[in-house]
Amino acid sequence: MQPTKIDILILGAGPAGTSLALMLLKRAPHLKVRIVEKSDFSREKTGETLPPQIKDLMEPLGIFEQFQQEGHLPAHGTSVVWGADLLQENNFLLQTNSPGWRIDKNRFNWFLIREAEKQGAQINMDAHAKFTGKIQSLFHFLLTSNAGVEESLQASFVVDATGRSASFAAQMGARKVRFDNLTGIWRFYQLSNGNCGVETLVEACATGWWYSASMPGNKLVVAYMTDSDLAPEQQLRQGGWEHQLNSAPRTQKRLKKTEGAGELKFWPAASQCLDAFCGEAWIAVGDAAGTFDPLSSQGVFKAMKSGIFGAYAALDYLDGKTNALEKYEQLVRREFENYLEIRSKFYQKEQRWSQSPFWQRRQDWVTLDPFSMLVAVENSVPENSQRNYLLSAKERAFILKTCTCASPAKDIVAAFQASALSYKSNRNIILGLQFLLQKNILKQVS
Ligand SMILES: Cc1cc2nc3c(=O)[nH]c(=O)nc-3n(C[C@H](O)[C@H](O)[C@H](O)COP(=O)(O)OP(=O)(O)OC[C@H]3O[C@@H](n4cnc5c(N)ncnc54)[C@H](O)[C@@H]3O)c2cc1C
Repeated sequence: MQPTKIDILILGAGPAGTSLALMLLKRAPHLKVRIVEKSDFSREKTGETLPPQIKDLMEPLGIFEQFQQEGHLPAHGTSVVWGADLLQENNFLLQTNSPGWRIDKNRFNWFLIREAEKQGAQINMDAHAKFTGKIQSLFHFLLTSNAGVEESLQASFVVDATGRSASFAAQMGARKVRFDNLTGIWRFYQLSNGNCGVETLVEACATGWWYSASMPGNKLVVAYMTDSDLAPEQQLRQGGWEHQLNSAPRTQKRLKKTEGAGELKFWPAASQCLDAFCGEAWIAVGDAAGTFDPLSSQGVFKAMKSGIFGAYAALDYLDGKTNALEKYEQLVRREFENYLEIRSKFYQKEQRWSQSPFWQRRQDWVTLDPFSMLVAVENSVPENSQRNYLLSAKERAFILKTCTCASPAKDIVAAFQASALSYKSNRNIILGLQFLLQKNILKQVS
């Protein structure tokens, strides 16, 4: 089989992969860009909210005008019951002078695919690209369509835009670092008269929080966000959903205006990131690089932004700028660290259920005395012996090496920051040290 040579292969046609293709082809229309998507987007997806700032990404891609014709609903803000039993309005218009959007996600994905195609990207939907090896700097893939037709592909550069599975990055040796165990259980309800009060509501409860938003098609999406170990699937399917709703009275009240509930769906929603966002001639973008808590409503925005940055990085790399991918890595790492700080602050605003495991797990206060002397209990931690929260394997190995002899916590943080290992905020390094102490991987000595 004669291989087809392409410049850039993008795995995944979600918002990150398609935005990357759009920006690439805008800057360099001569490039051969192929997108391979494993699904056909027929599976129902939860309705999502996009912040007003999405306009700032769509305009440079030249798609904002068309996006507005797609029939998504404007979002004027989110009503929040968080930290107190009080409904508070977070109005977008006061912050930005323009609305956000409540979107039908499949329709949105198809829109981006069509735009990428118009720009010149070749797209294989419902297809599987199997990586068969890298020979003389070219990535080789065997592409199989749903109908069983095979094609051999050779790509100079690969983009992992496969969402949270980050399947290509994993094949390249990158590892996921998880920060929690959040999961989303959601269903659609049909609205009986099209009006169910506020547009979007977030309501905290003892075991997590609820999200509900009226969506295109006269539908209300309702999602219960909690930790996967606190949400046994069978229990939720057998009355547990209704039982949990009792603890979210404002969400429950919205359901009075609905009829006919759809099937319950389960979706992983943990915050996670890779320990390496790129390697030789490949990068990870969007959720493949790092996923945000849906609470932020920033997932699509961040995916499109990293797609756009990823396009610049790939072009620079193909132009021979050797530090292009390193710069991309630093940028995305910094964004993820900032996100972690904001997420912590937001969860810490909720103090009503301090005994509940869900909230306890999110109260990550800095308690470590900067002068406490820390030493490693063992030189290394066997793989998979601890849940891989907060620190990547490389970061953990660095800390353990630094702590071969007892050192003050503040010096360990300084050594980490002085190393070229990775960008991490001081707070997150300290939380990592606290985690290692809790797991008896480090100990305090006087
Ligand atoms: C419950 C829930 C609610 C959310 N609500 C919001 C919200 O309100 N607002 C918001 O902005 N974000 C929200 N998000 C997050 C948002 O959905 C994601 O952040 C965003 O879609 C990420 O885009 P992406 O392109 O990186 O990944 P994805 O959208 O996941 O796209 C990845 C694509 O890659 C494909 N793929 C996977 N493996 C392969 C492979 N091996 N080969 C080829 N293709 C592959 C997948 O089929 C998929 O189409 C929510 C997420 C969850 C879980």
